[in-house]
Amino acid sequence: MISFASGPAVLPPEVLSEVQEAVGAWDGSGQSVLELPFGGPDYATIQSEFEAEARALLSLPPTYKILLLQGGAFAQFRLVPLNLLRSTDCAAYVETGYWSARAIAEAREVCRVAVVAQADAAIPPIATWQLPRDTVYCHVTGNETADGVQMHRFPALGEVPLVADLTADLFTGPIDIQPFGVIYASAQKNLGAPGLTVVIVREDLLGRVRAEVPAPFDYTRQASTGSRVNTPPIFSVFVASRMLKWLGRQGGLTAAAARCERRSRMLYHVIDASQLYTCPVRAADRSRISVCFHLPDAAQDAAFLAEAQRRGLWHLAGHPTRGGIRACLYNAMPESSVAILADFMQEFDKSCPALT
Ligand SMILES: *Cc1c(COP(=O)(O)O)cnc(C)c1O
Repeated sequence: MISFASGPAVLPPEVLSEVQEAVGAWDGSGQSVLELPFGGPDYATIQSEFEAEARALLSLPPTYKILLLQGGAFAQFRLVPLNLLRSTDCAAYVETGYWSARAIAEAREVCRVAVVAQADAAIPPIATWQLPRDTVYCHVTGNETADGVQMHRFPALGEVPLVADLTADLFTGPIDIQPFGVIYASAQKNLGAPGLTVVIVREDLLGRVRAEVPAPFDYTRQASTGSRVNTPPIFSVFVASRMLKWLGRQGGLTAAAARCERRSRMLYHVIDASQLYTCPVRAADRSRISVCFHLPDAAQDAAFLAEAQRRGLWHLAGHPTRGGIRACLYNAMPESSVAILADFMQEFDKSCPALT
């Protein structure tokens, strides 16, 4: 079977076999990677390998700290404002779909939120974003995984740093880090196993945390202890380090971006050539990570999903709040698997009675 799930994502066979080996015995020592103490040299090696790979792939300057946290992107929705600003301060949010709406709802509990731009099935043009003068940061969502919308270019907003939920698109292509103050991403989309949340934070934004934030979620304390305030998600860091090494061997982020482009193009090509499938997203803002489309009605969506599953193409149902069909194509998704889905879509299209 092939899984197009929104997460956890598929992993490359090479990485899975490295993980299997390390669960059996770490480095020939007889100890499993699951048994390594977090204060010891073995975990120190795993973590520094992860960090070195991440820094190299992203060309990350030393002014950015990498924090290895838990709680997922969802926890960051509220932790970002709690770490960066006072309750009376203002944060700007760009609303582009399901996940940015969740981020906005969480931030509203703890600070002033200005929704500075909003669009359905598109990225609002940057020229229309109306940032209040006292904005501390501007929050964007790189890939709206439920909606199939992706921000392909990130604007530089002068003094106002971008804060970005890049859970579905970090490490899927090169980014210019300069406009960003904070980037956060859960690991289970492009980096392997769930349990790890990567937070990249610009040094000068540290030191503003509010007293009510628990220490493991305090960016400043985590930065000063090398993410060892308490037990880190060791296994997930290990898997992520092997994923990054694999990405490096595959040609790094430029090659990853080209693969994303080719994979998604196969599906959009079938969608656009067909009367049966509709992608509601504006062409320039279509996601290369989560391709969302639908058939003319819910009954046909269901028939498509049932037949797909019979052919071994799994987890293609759209986000529960959105319906339709969604194919998630994270870093480890082989192009050959996407070709099988594209062929199936064409075949299913031809087998349907002609639409009038
Ligand atoms: C999957 C996803 C999330 C949620 O991640 P969790 O680890 O479940 O908290 C948030 N934002 C985006 C863009 C996602 O794709």
